[in-house]
Amino acid sequence: MYKCCKILKHGLCFFNDILTSCCFSPVDQIDGQVPPLLYDNYNGQIIEKDDLFERINKHVSVFKKGSCPKECNSCYHIEEQDWDEEKYIDYITITHFSICNADCIYCTNNHELYERTNNTYKILPVLKSFKEQGIIKKGCELHIGGGEFTIYQECDDLLDLFAINNYARVFVPTNAIKYSEKLFQAMDKATTYIIVSLDCGSRRTFQKIKRVDAFNKVINSLKKYASTEKSRDAIRLKYIIIPTYNDNISEFKKFLKIAKKLGVRNLIIDIDARYSRVTNYKIDNYFINLAQKMNEIAIKQNFITEFYSFYFQNTNDKKIEQDNFFIKLKKKIYFKYFDKDIKELYKHHRYGAKRFKY
Ligand code: SF4
Ligand code: SF4
Repeated sequence: MYKCCKILKHGLCFFNDILTSCCFSPVDQIDGQVPPLLYDNYNGQIIEKDDLFERINKHVSVFKKGSCPKECNSCYHIEEQDWDEEKYIDYITITHFSICNADCIYCTNNHELYERTNNTYKILPVLKSFKEQGIIKKGCELHIGGGEFTIYQECDDLLDLFAINNYARVFVPTNAIKYSEKLFQAMDKATTYIIVSLDCGSRRTFQKIKRVDAFNKVINSLKKYASTEKSRDAIRLKYIIIPTYNDNISEFKKFLKIAKKLGVRNLIIDIDARYSRVTNYKIDNYFINLAQKMNEIAIKQNFITEFYSFYFQNTNDKKIEQDNFFIKLKKKIYFKYFDKDIKELYKHHRYGAKRFKY
């Protein structure tokens, strides 16, 4: 028995220039901290099993000595148990590409650095080699990160390697601007799930948040993705509350109307991670109350909901202070949250979808 982490022992995360154990970090990577490093300057080199686990075990040995690697310090994934000592990987995250056909105001991809490019190493040979060496366990989880998977060059090949043949449970966030028939097949025939952050119920708000005029395309893709009972159940429609953009009940109700029309039952309510960060995770009560109200309305309409972000979950545990008369009045006047500084947060230039056709 010792304290350790399942992902540290059996996980891999592919970034565009490093290979790490996970993509989590108690202090967000934006603040400069990276998760346990396995390979620096990584560009898709083929890796041998013994070398890989030697590096993994270096981090694990810190836990075995009763200590904790500094990268994992106070991570909520740490737990005490009778860990197996077998050499396998069953939790993979791919986030080495950043190409995207949207330009969401809340995107955490560092566009200045990666320039939304498809010009990254090929991951397929690496994963094929891992499979051949018996490193990747059947039934593992494959999480896609990075940019927009449906326009990533190895999308179909990766779905063939892991999803279509049911080798892995695959989790794909997609903006659904481009419909992928292969992704639909994986959802319909295998264990592949998509998360679509629609964040709105109208074309106007969509355009403000995603900064591309593709609302109708997304709705059309969603109709196809939701065309069978199994594929419908594989969709999770997400509403990220973005301060001053969609932080009101009337937009959320329009979002619910769309979900109902599509027959999608699984919803996620979240808050923009960047807002959480800049406020040092002190989320304004306005948003906590708003999220709870949204949740109540959705549940009343028979949706299945979850709060996705752990920032939010943490906040939900806290006692909510009741607004006094004047605050209530102020909120009534503004109807939505108003904060000049927060508005400023979203005014910045980044490379965007205007560089790419969709
Ligand atoms: S403890 Fe946290 S930071 Fe460390 S490997 Fe596990 S998930 Fe990553
Ligand atoms: S869909 Fe939006 S959040 Fe996702 S990668 Fe593209 S710009 Fe970023």
